Amino acid sequence: ATMPPLLAAMATAGRNGVLVKNAVAMERLAATSVVAFDKTGTLTAGRPRVEDIRLIDAQGHERRAAGGYRTETEVLRAAAAAEYPSEHPVGAAIVAAARAAEIAVPDATDFVAAPGRGVAATVEGVRVEVGEPRRMRPDAAGDGAPADSYVRACAIAAEVEASGRTAVAVVADSVAVAVIGIGDTLRPDAERGVRRCGELSAAPPVLLTGDNAGAAERVAAAVGIGDVRPGLLPEDKAAAVRELAEGGQRVAFVGDGVNDAPAMATARSGIAMGGAGSDLALETADAVVVRDELAAVPAAVALARRARRLVI
Ligand code: ADP
Ligand code: MG
Repeated sequence: ATMPPLLAAMATAGRNGVLVKNAVAMERLAATSVVAFDKTGTLTAGRPRVEDIRLIDAQGHERRAAGGYRTETEVLRAAAAAEYPSEHPVGAAIVAAARAAEIAVPDATDFVAAPGRGVAATVEGVRVEVGEPRRMRPDAAGDGAPADSYVRACAIAAEVEASGRTAVAVVADSVAVAVIGIGDTLRPDAERGVRRCGELSAAPPVLLTGDNAGAAERVAAAVGIGDVRPGLLPEDKAAAVRELAEGGQRVAFVGDGVNDAPAMATARSGIAMGGAGSDLALETADAVVVRDELAAVPAAVALARRARRLVI
């Protein structure tokens, strides 16, 4: 028996590295009018590396509080312990850096991950937080002003980000002790994948990221995206997708992380990069890119379109 065209197209998409979950998802993919992308792990390879560790020389009472961390090794050891259970590429980079430096990473307890913000865990009695500097404001100093170390962390982060890196702050018992600069490389086919998506769409592609504006702009320029929206929390990504939809677009959103799940669920087509994608992203998606190539996305859209023409 011959397969119905839609099923045949789903099988072909699968052979080409995209698993589309059902026929409705295939039809929705065909109808895509704009593609929105996550950055970290989607346009980038998602194998970022620690490239820079800057210690913050805490002052006065902050110095006594700051977990006793005084060296890069101590900071990396604590940060890696806190990040150990993390699914995020930034966490993986920090753990890998500690391993490369042959640091014995202690166990942490009470781990919590805040998607789009960072992580926290207790390491040897110290509450260690690692995350987006502007979103992890340590307790204010007595007079209500932001703690000195926090102000310094944000200033250092801005310097680190000027080079296109992602900056995360390491906070120990509410005192910022260091800023870690993390670099990521583009996927080899990022530019081609984005360009083809643009060619298949009515509207130009969009970048929706939780990362800082500096890193976002650099990646966007490299792949040819003009519409860049940085600093978004997971629900902000979903709101941006909704806004595009309300403007009449049929949105396909491509992401990889837990932080992308709300946007994927909101988009007409949620597409997950499967390579290192989080379980939640894979479950939420309508289609999963199992071959670790961004160019598989426009290929799947094109296939879905051809199948639809056959059905009609
Ligand atoms: P993107 O949208 O580019 O994939 P995310 O929304 O996952 O980025 O993360 C946004 C920002 O939140 C990161 O750039 C980082 O500063 C911070 N962040 C998220 N998860 C972690 C983590 N596990 N450790 C440190 N920082 C994190
Ligand atoms: Mg991501």
